[in-house]
Amino acid sequence: MVKAVFPGSFDPPTYGHLNIIERARGIFEELYVVVAVNREKSYLFSPDERLSLLKDLLKGYPNVSVHLCDTLIVDFARKYGCRVLLRGVRSVPDFSYEFELSVMNKGLDPAIETFIMPTDPRYFVLRSSAIKELVAFNGDVSGMVPPSVAMALKGRISR
Ligand code: ADP
Repeated sequence: MVKAVFPGSFDPPTYGHLNIIERARGIFEELYVVVAVNREKSYLFSPDERLSLLKDLLKGYPNVSVHLCDTLIVDFARKYGCRVLLRGVRSVPDFSYEFELSVMNKGLDPAIETFIMPTDPRYFVLRSSAIKELVAFNGDVSGMVPPSVAMALKGRISR
């Protein structure tokens, strides 16, 4: 019975994120989806907006909960008794980044393990940053994000 944390920016949540959550919720006893607040980065949606988009998308999943975190992710994981940090990867560059991050997190708390889940091939080109750019040029993102996210994006950045 293992609990896992799935941290990210989710600016905004995409079908790629949801696919990882959908697959992981059948493996872990509980999945904590965590909007990691990084004050150094600038985002399109506020932490509360990302939290509420995710809460709405995941409300049908009894073992999935959504949280905000403005501390180190390993501290969050320890606090909630989660032994696994889950990360999704789309590509080899993603993997090298995630690998380095996992070594750093292991150094912070050796009891917490990083699990890396490769994307479903349908979603390997989905990137929150590219989706935002597409919306700015009125591109169709209906195959990339759920309708609620597409609406929020249009409201925020359509020309
Ligand atoms: P970050 O703060 O690292 O930019 P993101 O919000 O982009 O986080 O993503 C959160 C997690 O979801 C990361 O592990 C990221 O690699 C993964 N992820 C993002 N998009 C996809 C996708 N299309 N398929 C699989 N995993 C993804």
